[in-house]
Amino acid sequence: MKKTLKRDKKIRLSEHVSYSSDVFRLAMENAPDLVIITDSDGTVIYGNKAVEKTTGYQLKDIMGKKAGAFWKSPMSASYYNRMWDVIKRQKKIFRDEIQNKRKNGKIYISDISISPVLDKKKKIKFFVALEHDITRDKEIDKAKTEFVSLASHQLRTPLSTINWYAEMLLAGDAGKLNNEQKKYLDEIYTGNQRMVALVNALLNVSRLELGSFMVEPQPTNLVKLIQDVLDEQAVQIFSKKIVLKKKFSKTLPILDTDPKLLHMVFQNLLSNAVKYTPPKGTVSMSLALSNKKSKDILFTISDTGYGIPKKQQDRIFEKLFRADNVRAKDAEGTGLGLYIAKAIVAQSKGKIWFQSPVKGRKPDDKNPGTTFFVSIPLKGMKKKEGTKRLG
Ligand code: ADP
Repeated sequence: MKKTLKRDKKIRLSEHVSYSSDVFRLAMENAPDLVIITDSDGTVIYGNKAVEKTTGYQLKDIMGKKAGAFWKSPMSASYYNRMWDVIKRQKKIFRDEIQNKRKNGKIYISDISISPVLDKKKKIKFFVALEHDITRDKEIDKAKTEFVSLASHQLRTPLSTINWYAEMLLAGDAGKLNNEQKKYLDEIYTGNQRMVALVNALLNVSRLELGSFMVEPQPTNLVKLIQDVLDEQAVQIFSKKIVLKKKFSKTLPILDTDPKLLHMVFQNLLSNAVKYTPPKGTVSMSLALSNKKSKDILFTISDTGYGIPKKQQDRIFEKLFRADNVRAKDAEGTGLGLYIAKAIVAQSKGKIWFQSPVKGRKPDDKNPGTTFFVSIPLKGMKKKEGTKRLG
């Protein structure tokens, strides 16, 4: 009796195993994303139906061949070296956005993750690659960016016209204005200026995202560049009675970098520090090599302002994001400045980050303050051809 029960249980278990392996096989075969399994040398040993659908190759053509032989990806050799280093030497998962070629020669873009599967001795048995085709999402994103670019461009002309005529009216070119008329016109003029700033920022964002902007490196003195930015904002600094502290190293090398792009970064960080610090606060700037052997110049700007709330800190470089504490205090701002600054710094292979509260202050202090850091590689920026300038 006991024996029969045991046998029955065994049968049920094996049915269950074959049922579940069938389910797994079917699920894998019909999954909408590409699933490719290769041996430890990259020879394909499994591919699901999505592989045929996305790449245009028949599975029978791919099986037993090296994966790289088919896709003819336009990615560089060094990209693949890095990928093999992660999956084969470090035995870690490689995740990225990658471009591949379909059989018909068309490029497709996908989110890829390749995981090494290890045996008990930590030896690689095979690799499992999952690919999610995001070509359509990318095309939609591009169409949206192109729309923003076109709309911003078209908006610039009527906005300039409003600006021009408002300036003429304010100057009394069409007769003397009474106080009420002047007050209304001032509002129109300021509102229009804000709109111009927003449209220009949107245009910059679209040029960065479409990659149509140019990078024009030239020998640049960073101290002079920052001084120019300070001079431009002297009125705002003075009218808020902000105390300014500067500590610029005197032995910094001249960098081969794009001064207009870095100007935008410094300009944004300084205007934020001034804007988000109450009157009579302090803004401190420094520029120096981190150490003698350093490959970067470190720029810091610290303020005694409102600070950035902890729970929103991970969103600060997002497009159009503005933290609650400043929205409640200050209506002006587009939430695009830091997004643009980060994209420019990334272009020069530098880094931008921040700390809030500043050293020595607590999050619940009235003005916890913020420090932004930018590291700029001594190598400078690489020239990039493009059709448009940022500005
Ligand atoms: P904005 O036009 O709103 O200033 P940014 O992209 O330049 O846009 O900055 C995004 C947000 O980051 C700001 O709205 C603010 O919440 C926060 N922020 C940036 N710099 C500072 C600063 N120095 N002090 C406090 N908050 C800051």
